[in-house]
Amino acid sequence: MLRSVILAAARSHKVERLVETAPVSRDVVKRFVAGTGTPEALDTTAELADQGLCVTLDNLGEDTLTPEQAEVTKQAYLELLKALGGAGLTTDRAPAGAQTIATAEVSLKLSALGQAFDEQLAERNAREICEAAAAVGTTVTLDMEDHTTTDSTLDILSRLRRDFPATGAVLQAYLRRTESDCRELATAGSRVRLCKGAYKEPEHVAYQATLEVDKSYVRCMNILMAGEGYPMLATHDPRLIAIGQDRARWFDRAPSQFEFQMLYGIRPDEQQRLARLGHTVRVYVPYGTQWYGYLMRRLAERPANLGFFARALVSKK
Ligand SMILES: Cc1cc2nc3c(=O)[nH]c(=O)nc-3n(C[C@H](O)[C@H](O)[C@H](O)COP(=O)(O)OP(=O)(O)OC[C@H]3O[C@@H](n4cnc5c(N)ncnc54)[C@H](O)[C@@H]3O)c2cc1C
Repeated sequence: MLRSVILAAARSHKVERLVETAPVSRDVVKRFVAGTGTPEALDTTAELADQGLCVTLDNLGEDTLTPEQAEVTKQAYLELLKALGGAGLTTDRAPAGAQTIATAEVSLKLSALGQAFDEQLAERNAREICEAAAAVGTTVTLDMEDHTTTDSTLDILSRLRRDFPATGAVLQAYLRRTESDCRELATAGSRVRLCKGAYKEPEHVAYQATLEVDKSYVRCMNILMAGEGYPMLATHDPRLIAIGQDRARWFDRAPSQFEFQMLYGIRPDEQQRLARLGHTVRVYVPYGTQWYGYLMRRLAERPANLGFFARALVSKK
């Protein structure tokens, strides 16, 4: 019911105008979205870097239905990467000889590059973005979307990694298949972001109960932290963060051998606390003009996200 109301609101231009112009929306959006263009994305990255945080930037696009829309997204990433490199924001923070830890990298959704109607086009676009990232000394992480795209995304990832081995993957702990994917990907040089998962998925592919998802997250984290790759623990959950710190001690991982990741605007105090403890912390920063569709779809995919964003507005911890 709530989902249908949010989806109806997402489609309504009247509601869109109302939300975009309401003063309260500006505050909400400013809290979770860095701004509309490359200059604002750069400013936010520089601010976070000054606080000792790393960044991954996500260019927000609307549903990509044509090659022309995919081209616009690709060009936005190429412009962003050039600007990040020019501003010195892609510097490597890792000790010599270790896995690259770029101050700023980019995250991208293959759907925004055309995956839904032409997988090869999406792969070609992603490859160009990987080339541009490599040219300025940084990397790309492929976001993971709903379960119908998992195989296609992992296939494209494995082909991209032949030429750009540091390309990052995302695995979602709520999917029943993910423990096995973690085993496959816990290899030397492999960057894997582990998150709980944000989409509404059916029971036959995904755990539904919170406790089951959390237990799966811990099993997956154990595999990644015990493995040879570079785990990126994306969560705001205090219990999972504490378990992550414990596993780092157990498996003797230095701060340059794994990282924590959180979303821009969510638990900023915790992001800084972990950085002060010496951990590598990367903030996922969305930016772009299409924030309305982005926020509404995130809410519709999982109405529980409403509470997630609302909680962030009243708490910085
Ligand atoms: C860097 C990053 C990248 C992501 N990429 C993807 C992706 O590619 N694909 C995908 O499907 N999903 C992605 N996600 C979203 C992810 O899957 C989850 O939906 C989202 O992170 C919420 O799960 P959680 O682990 O933070 O904990 P939740 O289950 O939302 O919360 C657990 C606990 O954390 C604490 N907490 C959470 N939020 C707050 C808050 N605002 N203030 C205070 N305490 C809070 C509370 O104690 C809460 O009980 C990403 C998330 C991050 C952080």
